[in-house]
Amino acid sequence: MRNFDYAAPTSLAEAASLLARAPGTARVLAGGTDLIVQLRENVREADLVVDVKRIPELTELAYSAGTGLHLGASTPCYRIYEDPAVSAAYPALADAARIIGGWQISSRASVGGNLCNSSPAGDSLAPLLALDARCVIVGLDGTREVAAADFCTAPGRNVLAKGELLAKLVFPAPAPKASSAYERFIPRNEMDIAVAGASSWVQLNAAGDTIIDARVALSAVAPTVRLATAANRWLVGQPAVEATFERAGELARESASPISDMRGTVEFRRHLVGVLVKRTLATAVARALAGE
Ligand SMILES: Cc1cc2nc3c(=O)[nH]c(=O)nc-3n(C[C@H](O)[C@H](O)[C@H](O)COP(=O)(O)OP(=O)(O)OC[C@H]3O[C@@H](n4cnc5c(N)ncnc54)[C@H](O)[C@@H]3O)c2cc1C
Repeated sequence: MRNFDYAAPTSLAEAASLLARAPGTARVLAGGTDLIVQLRENVREADLVVDVKRIPELTELAYSAGTGLHLGASTPCYRIYEDPAVSAAYPALADAARIIGGWQISSRASVGGNLCNSSPAGDSLAPLLALDARCVIVGLDGTREVAAADFCTAPGRNVLAKGELLAKLVFPAPAPKASSAYERFIPRNEMDIAVAGASSWVQLNAAGDTIIDARVALSAVAPTVRLATAANRWLVGQPAVEATFERAGELARESASPISDMRGTVEFRRHLVGVLVKRTLATAVARALAGE
């Protein structure tokens, strides 16, 4: 591992200034569960590592039913799934936070780090799209917002420019009769990268028998995590029954453009999309009916 300088700013402005003015490559360190591994293995290089965990806003977790969730980018995953109100309001996010690594990893790893690492297989990414999260980005020139769906641009790449960092993720307040779910397929039960993943958010009518809005997102089956647009359009107005979930799974396969690699073939990944979309829709509907 190459030597690098280390800084631990205590404000967003200081962090942005360090990132913008550093000669060479400056990288943000949140939990370090991706970055340290990548630096050690010389997959990434850094001249300056900016540890952002001392910036209070970055480890904020503020939730209310009226204003939604404001999640500091470096808040460790365990704080999400150990918070009963947040887990109930955003179950897909809790599903993902719970399975990112084991105990040691989830006590450090953040959703912001997962997103900024920008792997199409990152577990929290599909839930961010399904839950319609927005990314608040801070730089020397101020603050800007982008939808989570527009954040990643290619494997390992995103919209952050030099000098910018992700400050927080903002999730809309939970809607009535709505809920969500995330599932992935991995060959082993833990410590593995998703071969495919799907997250579904649905809103039902007052009677609870018809889908009035839906967002399904897919991971590990395209260069970036993406919304299953055709399925999402079709789902609106459909009855909340198994045949609907199955058909949505078939439509979602059309949104996938997977590759074959050592973890799975194109055909296997497309098959998984159908299965995972069907399952996550069923779970999201069951949760919405149960009032989660
Ligand atoms: C044993 C093990 C198991 C794992 N299991 C899983 C798993 O099951 N699922 C999964 O998805 N991942 C897994 N990972 C990968 C990793 O834990 C996650 O991607 C984690 O969410 C990264 O978060 P972090 O806070 O540690 O990010 P870091 O490693 O600190 O940062 C990751 C990247 O994002 C950048 N970054 C971080 N925060 C910001 C910010 N605020 N603004 C701008 N850039 C930023 C960093 O510069 C770096 O490039 C695993 C890793 C290990 C070591």
